[in-house]
Amino acid sequence: TMKKSEGAYQLLFSDQLEEKGINPIELEENLRKALINEEFELYYQPQFSLTTNKIVGVEALVRWNHPVKGLISPVDFIPLAEETGLIIPLGHRILIEACKQLKIWIQEGHTFKVSVNVSSRQFHDATFVDMVRDVLNTYDVPPSLIELEVTESTTMHHVEEALAKLNALREIGVSIAIDDFGIEYSSLSYLQKFSIQTLKIDRSFIMGLDDHESNKAIVSAIHAMAKHLNLTIVAEGVETESQLAWLKELECEYAQGYYFSRPVPAGELKDYIDDMRTVAVSGS
Ligand code: C2E
Ligand code: MG
Ligand code: MG
Ligand code: MG
Repeated sequence: TMKKSEGAYQLLFSDQLEEKGINPIELEENLRKALINEEFELYYQPQFSLTTNKIVGVEALVRWNHPVKGLISPVDFIPLAEETGLIIPLGHRILIEACKQLKIWIQEGHTFKVSVNVSSRQFHDATFVDMVRDVLNTYDVPPSLIELEVTESTTMHHVEEALAKLNALREIGVSIAIDDFGIEYSSLSYLQKFSIQTLKIDRSFIMGLDDHESNKAIVSAIHAMAKHLNLTIVAEGVETESQLAWLKELECEYAQGYYFSRPVPAGELKDYIDDMRTVAVSGS
């Protein structure tokens, strides 16, 4: 089926995979088997309101739980999944899994958003919008509690198609976030045309807040612009107390990052949510 030059694989074959003894030529075959054997697992990283200190959502982040090699990072297989088209069935499974989990949380009395990453090839697949509609109907979750994260490059290529798709998704009722905002095109004029609700400020700007004044200027500017365009801002990759303090001073609404929590399996998040509740109740 695949007649890819070894060079293409070489590019995608990271040191980490090599360390784990995974042969790049076998990776595609392994990915196919992993789909059949259901070796993919979603971890969830909470997002917090900086005004209420409560969880407002979680981002679903896929991991490959390889029976022999252990946990494999998405950075090591999403690119190949994209290149081979396996991201289409994989992305389908990820959305189903996220919806099933959301349904469980709703039944347990928690109402927060689940954000699901969508890669470029998935977004541009002809069946994408129908797939999203189908999954939401089948698993019966409120579309308003599902957010899809796309990157700037996903929407900036084939702008007309992207506009139509984003509008169709909006009609379904899901919300759209631009992931890793600020590092790619930043074609600001499109922010108004596209029906998007959220900008996730890329981790690299947040990481530099402590050391680089220029990053403060950039984050302030994005924040101010978003406010005027009526877009929600999420600061990604908050790791330190001082980054958080500065974001609060800026009146940034939402944040996620290792400072609060790493991505964790759903079960661990549940304990975490319950802990948060206890704290909130005893503190009031
Ligand atoms: P992303 O969507 O921008 O996800 C954020 C990444 O930053 C995650 O890495 C997360 O674990 C990491 N992160 C969060 N907070 C911090 C922090 O405070 N410090 C640091 N250093 N890192 C932090 P992860 O889980 O390895 O995912 C990497 C990328 O893989 C994602 O970037 C996304 O582009 C892609 N990805 C992950 N899950 C999926 C998925 O289900 N579908 C698709 N299509 N892509 C996915
Ligand atoms: Mg993301
Ligand atoms: Mg991101
Ligand atoms: Mg990213």
